[in-house]
Amino acid sequence: MGKLIIVGHKNPDTDSIVSAIVAQEYFSKVLRQEAQAYRAGNLNNETKFVLQSLDMAAPELIASVSADDSLVLVDHNETTQIFEQLDLAQVEYIVDHHKLALRTDKPINCRVEPIGSTSSLLAKMFQEKGVDISEKIAKLLLAGILSDTLNMTSPTTTDEDRTLVMKLNTIAKVDIEEFVGRMFKAKSSLEGVSVSEIISLDYKVFNMGNRKVGIGTWETTCPESVNKKEEIQEALREKKEVEKLDLIFFMVVDILKQNSELYIIGELEQLVAEKVFGGKAKDGLLLLPGVVSRKKQIVPQLTAELTK
Ligand code: MG
Ligand code: MG
Ligand code: MG
Repeated sequence: MGKLIIVGHKNPDTDSIVSAIVAQEYFSKVLRQEAQAYRAGNLNNETKFVLQSLDMAAPELIASVSADDSLVLVDHNETTQIFEQLDLAQVEYIVDHHKLALRTDKPINCRVEPIGSTSSLLAKMFQEKGVDISEKIAKLLLAGILSDTLNMTSPTTTDEDRTLVMKLNTIAKVDIEEFVGRMFKAKSSLEGVSVSEIISLDYKVFNMGNRKVGIGTWETTCPESVNKKEEIQEALREKKEVEKLDLIFFMVVDILKQNSELYIIGELEQLVAEKVFGGKAKDGLLLLPGVVSRKKQIVPQLTAELTK
C-alpha cells in the first residue's frame, strides 16, 4: 500500500492549508498511516502570516501522485476545485464542510458536516479519538476556524465552532482578538498581489445546472483598498473567456460592515444577480447587505436559480 496524499483545493485559503497539515498529523499519529500534506496552489497573505507566526513551513506544492498512493481531499470535493493532475479514482477520503459533489465509482471514507470550517471537523475527529492536541496543532486549527468563519461572525458559524474555539484556546492560549486582528490585516493586504491575482485569491468554479460559474471572493477589513474597479472588471471578462465560463462573479466582502459588493460584468450576470439577491446593480456593482458567505449565501441561491 502506498501513502496518503492529503491536499486542499486550488487557490488555497487558510482552512485548506491548515487542514492538510493537521490531517497529516491525524492520519499518521492517530490512524498510523503514512501520510503527507500538500498544497494545490500559492499561499495567500493570511496563510503566510499564520505559518510564519508558528514558525512552520508551507506544505509542498502537489505534483504527480504515484499509482499506489491514495488521496485525501480536505476542504473541497467538487471536481472543478480539485488539482487537475489528480486521478479521482485514487480518492479514498473526503473531510469537508461543503456540499457533497463528488461522485465515486467505489465506496470511500467521507466526513462532511455543516460546520464552520474543515479545521473544526478535524478538531472533532481528534476529540473523538481521545487524542491530545499539541499547542501547534491547536493554533493551526484555531486559525482555520477563525479565518473561515470570519471570527465567528459568518452565518456558517455553528455553536460547535464556538465551543471548539474555546476548547482549542485552552491549549493554544492566544489572545483571540489580537490574533484575528493580525490575521485579517494580512488577509486584507494586497501586497505583491496584482489585479488579476485579486480575483483569483479565493476563486472557485461551480457547475450549476448546465452552466459553469466562477465566483471569486476577497475578504477584507479595508474594501477601499481595492480601488481598481475597471481593471478588475477587465480581468473578470478575460477570465470568463479563458475559462469558458457562462457566468463570473467577484465579491468583495467587508468583514467589518458584514456586507459584500458583487462585481457584475455582463447582462446575464446582472439579470441573475438582481433576480436572486434583489436590488439594482449600479456601475457594475451590486451591494449585498448582510452577505459574507459564498458557501451559504451565494452558491445555493445562484444554483437554485440556474437549475430552474
Ligand atoms: Mg476553503
Ligand atoms: Mg473551509
Ligand atoms: Mg473561506
